[in-house]
Parts: sequence; C-alpha cells; structure tokens
Amino acid sequence: MLCLGIESTAHTFGISIVNDKGKKVLSNIISAYKTKTGGIVPSRVADHHVEAVKPVLRRALDQARIKPDEIDLVAFSQGPGIGHTLRIGAGLGRSLAILLGKPLIGVNHCIAHLEVGRFLTKADDPVLLYVSGANTQVIAYEAGRYRVFGETLDLGVGNFLDSFARQLGLGFPGGPRVEAFARKSTKYIKLPYSVKGMDISLGGLDTNLKQKIKSGKYSKSDLCFSVQETVFAMLVEVAERAMAHTGKNELLLGGGVACNKRLQEMCRVMTKERGGKTFILPNEFLVDNAAMIAITGLEMYKAGMSTNLKDAGIKPYERTDDVKVEWR
Ligand code: AMP
Ligand code: MG
Repeated sequence: MLCLGIESTAHTFGISIVNDKGKKVLSNIISAYKTKTGGIVPSRVADHHVEAVKPVLRRALDQARIKPDEIDLVAFSQGPGIGHTLRIGAGLGRSLAILLGKPLIGVNHCIAHLEVGRFLTKADDPVLLYVSGANTQVIAYEAGRYRVFGETLDLGVGNFLDSFARQLGLGFPGGPRVEAFARKSTKYIKLPYSVKGMDISLGGLDTNLKQKIKSGKYSKSDLCFSVQETVFAMLVEVAERAMAHTGKNELLLGGGVACNKRLQEMCRVMTKERGGKTFILPNEFLVDNAAMIAITGLEMYKAGMSTNLKDAGIKPYERTDDVKVEWR
C-alpha cells in the first residue's frame, strides 16, 4: 500500500511516499523556511509552504517513481502546530484525496515522531524523548493512548539553544553551532540545573547565561560545553524517570535537537546502564519530515481509521493524549 504524507506544522514543508510493503520510504522531500534570526512570522512561513508545494510534490513523486494515481492513501499532519502553516498541508491533503478519489487520514505530529521509530528501527514500545525547537516532551504508550510523562515548563530545548547561540553571536540555527563549539572544550562551568519531578525548566538557566555572557569572563566553547552537559543531563534524567515509571527499556529520540551527537551518547550510556537500548534514526527522520506522517497514516488506516472530509480541518492545539490509539 502506497501512502503520500504531508507535513506542515511549522517551518518545514514536506511530502513523502511510503510503501508499507517492505517498509520502504520511497521519497522524503523537505523544504524548510529559513531566517537569519530564527524568528517565525506565521504568514511568511505559510507563503513559503504554498510556493514549496509544486516542487516538493514533483520531487517526491519523481524520486519514488510513481504516478499520482498509484497512491492508495493521503495522510497529513493535522496538529499540533501553527494554524497558518497547518492549513496549507490540510488543504493540499483534502484536494489530493478528492482529486485521486482516495481515503484521507489526519495524523498527530508528535505521535508521528514516535511511530517512525517503531516502523524503521527494531524499537517496539519505546519511550520517546522528543526534543525540537518548540517541543520538549517525554512520551510513551500506556492504556490506549500516547501520554506525556514529562515536558518543559517553559522553553523548548531547541528554542533555548537558539536563543543562547544568538546571545553568543553564533548565528542560527544555534544547536549545531553550540555542538561544534562544545567539542573544543572539556571545562565545566557550574550552571543551574532544574528538574522538577518529571519536568524540566530552562528559563532560569537562560537568564543565568545572559549574565555570564555579558560579564565577558567565559569562553564561548566552555559555555557551550557546559550548557550541553547541563541541559542534556536534565533531559536524560527525565527520560530515565519515565522509563523507570513505565517499566520500558527502549528509548527513542526525535526532533531536531536529537541530531546532537553528545545527547545521543549520553542517552546510550543511560540506557546501557539500565540494560536497555537507545534507538537513533538518521537525521532526515529526526527533524520534521513527511515520511513519519505517511508511516503513521498507514498504521492508522490499516487499523480501520480514516478522516472524513468534513473532519479534516486543522487541530493546532491537539494534545498527544487526545488521540485514541486504535492501531496498537
Ligand atoms: P525541529 O523543530 O525539530 O525542526 O528542530 C529544530 C531545532 O533543532 C533548532 O532549535 C536547532 O537549533 C536544533 N538542532 C538542530 N541540530 C542540532 C544539533 N546538532 N544539536 C542541537 N540542536 C540542534
Ligand atoms: Mg517535530
């Protein structure tokens, strides 16, 4: 069965074609809206997505070597996300489903970050550490739903790293620059560490770092090293708590920050010590992408789910545990 997936929750517009037979991702094309500062003006990002539709769709079909009428199912990210940008994907999804006369399925973006790992790795029932620009959540399956076991109380870890990098004058996106500078140091500067139960908080650290940068007393690489060690330790701690609480021994990473090698290493050390395992996808499936939407759409459809055209509007505020998981 061939599914065409569409992603448009935020700055990335993507289209992918996935064949559930042999678990093959035939194409996974993205076009990401970029700015120098990282600030997002929703209407501008929506304009970018509108312009991206034609070339991205063309490349997705060409690379997969399929014709539109071979598609069996259309999946789109229905939420959560930015209303302006979600609407582009939802509109395209509806149009394609009508035009092709094929079923449509609306997918929750956060859940898709987990399902792509179950589809493409040997992970069966993982805890997901989802670390992107705006989102920082620990998600796992329990009693018929995907539930959020821990999250950030203020800033998303990616946005935090971007803000920190901007203060240091490293440019955008900040995460990869911070990672590169961190590699040049092993000197730890003590920083505030804030884990509250299963949640983390980054606001206090953000303020503390602004003062440290302003003082001019610390080198960029020492600060980057120390920020990574501190923030990633917080993430690993809450992920471990969720694993202990749910009794699961698989950890899956998702989101742009999960591309970070040091975070990956720290997760591997933690799960190894617990007798568990960390599963890490190639970067193209960690960042926002449409393959994960197509994959989740396929799983849902095969379990008998689909979305009526009249229910195919966007769900900008959909929560992970709003979705009844009928496919597991
Ligand atoms: P997403 O929202 O999932 O597209 O992820 C974007 C975020 O991931 C941005 O905040 C980036 O700074 C961050 N990011 C990307 N690569 C890395 C990396 N190697 N280390 C840390 N953060 C990263
Ligand atoms: Mg995402």
